[in-house]
Amino acid sequence: MKKLPLHWQILLGMAAGILFGLLSSYMGWNEFVKDWIKPFGTIFINLLKLIAIPLIVASLIKGIADLEDISKLSQMGGRTIGIYVLTTVFAVCVGLVMVNVVSPGTGITEETRQELLSNESAQAGATAKIEQANAQQDQSPLQPLVDLFPDNIFEAATSNGNMLQIIVFVVFFGIGLILIPKETAKPVKDFFNGFNEVILKLIDLIMITAPYGVFALLAALIVESPSADLFSALLWYGLTVILGLGVLIFLLYPTLVFFFTGRTPRFFFNGISPAQLLAFSTSSSAATLPVTMERVEEHLGVESEVTSFVLPIGATINMDGTSCYQAIAALFIAQVYGMDLDLGTQLGIIVTATLASIGSAAVPGAGIVMLVIVLGQAGIPLEGLVLIIAVDRPLDMCRTVANVTGDATVSMLVAKSVGKLGDPSERKWDDHYQQETA
Ligand code: ASP
Repeated sequence: MKKLPLHWQILLGMAAGILFGLLSSYMGWNEFVKDWIKPFGTIFINLLKLIAIPLIVASLIKGIADLEDISKLSQMGGRTIGIYVLTTVFAVCVGLVMVNVVSPGTGITEETRQELLSNESAQAGATAKIEQANAQQDQSPLQPLVDLFPDNIFEAATSNGNMLQIIVFVVFFGIGLILIPKETAKPVKDFFNGFNEVILKLIDLIMITAPYGVFALLAALIVESPSADLFSALLWYGLTVILGLGVLIFLLYPTLVFFFTGRTPRFFFNGISPAQLLAFSTSSSAATLPVTMERVEEHLGVESEVTSFVLPIGATINMDGTSCYQAIAALFIAQVYGMDLDLGTQLGIIVTATLASIGSAAVPGAGIVMLVIVLGQAGIPLEGLVLIIAVDRPLDMCRTVANVTGDATVSMLVAKSVGKLGDPSERKWDDHYQQETA
């Protein structure tokens, strides 16, 4: 019997998880879900994260070695960073336009504001985020640059938060591999080719469990989510963020892809949708990275030399969804406090939200920590974080989808520009997602 395509299986898992979560809240099974269902979601995310560093190492070494020429690497690097920054700046501008047009903060009454601000768990959450952001701000301005260079590769590899350090080391290693004689490099390349294949197979195996993993994640999320009243007070704010992200996901990216590569939106979304659904379910670009890489390579036709370089970097620095959200959240808070931000301050937000999104880690809730910096620079009260923190998770899920879709888009554009965009239907892929063709 023909099995359902993967994205439908994941969607079914998500829908079943949401329904089961709602039923459990209604029946009072919350503890059961937390104790017996949520752990399976955690195992699923852990498996994805587990594979991230080995995947980056294997695929990046393979990718760079296949380039056989350092000038190609610098050409690709320049384009990648350039396009990433451009799309991020555009995303912030989309956010600013949306929030100025919809003006979600002006409808919040003084009473609702006080009610939101007096929510104790939101206050505690906001204080923790502010402390985290302050710890980052207390460093020298060049610290992020220094942090790119690890002094011990094994120590760097002990945390998924050090992905950029791993990338720097691996690029360095790859350059060495290109520069030594071909016959000496061959066994090293062969080893990493094989290693890469093994990792891709492991991703297949993990993805077989994806529908169950997302079921567990969403069921747990629903039973742990705050009351519906909060959502209704912040409805317009949430809708503005979703609208902004929708413009990026459904308008900007497919248009860029169509315009620069000729690939249709249908082709693009068919290829990338499983990664988008996982991004939504896990709220983490880093956890989604293995699947993004496999989908972009095998279903969007981008060659591995490009995906192995562009996507891990993108997962850590390219966060269009996060930057768009930060612009909207900052202006929303300003509107609630009755502040009228002039053009200069809003232009400042373009710069700080771009940098803050680059600095955000690819994990759940990172965007709201870096929002503290955007608020601080624009002179918006930090306690405003309390207003939006309760609804941050669903918005985080949506902005992660935009982040991952943006990475996929840029990898297609870079691939096209360096002649590395193929037609997946013409390629003989080892079919990693066997259930799709079974
Ligand atoms: N969760 C987002 C990501 O992983 C980052 C954010 O919080 O905006 O892409």
